[in-house]
Amino acid sequence: MTAQLIDGKQIAADIHDEIRADVEEMKTETGKVPGLATVLVGTRKDSQTYVKMKKRACKKAGIASFAHDLPEDIRQEELLKIVLDLNANPDVHGILVQLPLPGHIDEEEILSAVSLEKDVDGFHPINIGRLSMKRRDPLFVPCTPRGCIELLDRTGIKIEGKRAVVLGRSNIVGLPVAMLLLHRNATVTICHSRTKDLPSVVREADILVAAVGRAEMVKRDWVKPGVVVIDVGMNAVDDPSSEKGYRLTGDVAFDEVKEVASAITPVPGGVGPMTIAMLLRNTVDSAKRCL
Ligand code: NDP
Repeated sequence: MTAQLIDGKQIAADIHDEIRADVEEMKTETGKVPGLATVLVGTRKDSQTYVKMKKRACKKAGIASFAHDLPEDIRQEELLKIVLDLNANPDVHGILVQLPLPGHIDEEEILSAVSLEKDVDGFHPINIGRLSMKRRDPLFVPCTPRGCIELLDRTGIKIEGKRAVVLGRSNIVGLPVAMLLLHRNATVTICHSRTKDLPSVVREADILVAAVGRAEMVKRDWVKPGVVVIDVGMNAVDDPSSEKGYRLTGDVAFDEVKEVASAITPVPGGVGPMTIAMLLRNTVDSAKRCL
């Protein structure tokens, strides 16, 4: 069997089209456009790249960008003030604080300071708390986990009643995606670095979400035939044959597992493009609530 490819690039492109149309309509009706503020601290290359991609996507969608590129040694109070000023700015409908923040910054205090109504990353403790409770809708759902569910939905894969296994329990991916699957009535197992006999747990999955950050850890004999695989992992592995000297790979051994899975996301081109699409979706949804 060769699995159906879940084309995140195409699905994200469709969502970008929907967002552009929404923004256009909002502009016509209200004369205003959604606004997204990005807060970047320091000079980490990966963070700079992510923020640049987010700004570029906003521009293409007609969303206004408010960029704050800040020095590595910024003080807690200064950063806090920037977030509070953005909370008060009516043209800003979403605030994205790029993580990780430098070690001297109290990340929890900064994330908690982002207004609940502008928390487009969905990392505010109250939004996460609501996500973790039954019948309490959070205002925003974190972007990568929301993207994973959207990939399943738009591929026509049913979640209800399925056995779902989530590899990883991080605050930004593993835990929230497990909550979303649970809300959609899957039976969910969450695995982590202390899980015993991981392959046998993974083998129970009808739907597998892998978010561990370990290149090609999940092998063909770890999965049940017919499994649906959502591979969140993005790992750079050395590859002298590539121009950059490395290539990106997921947490799942794609070439092997695609032979037994019924559907699978590639890396790159699977979950990755969905994260920004969901960030813009959250920003537009936020603006719709205000305008
Ligand atoms: P974290 O490092 O925060 O979490 C990794 C999780 O995997 C932890 O819960 C850890 O367990 C678990 N884990 C690590 N090693 C093993 C192992 N050998 N066996 C079982 N479990 C293990 O990572 P993130 O959640 O931030 O990211 C995960 C991956 O997803 C990364 O490759 C990252 O680059 C990618 N990513 C992709 C995004 C996208 O847009 N496509 C967005 C965000 C992340 P424990 O808790 O016990 O330590």
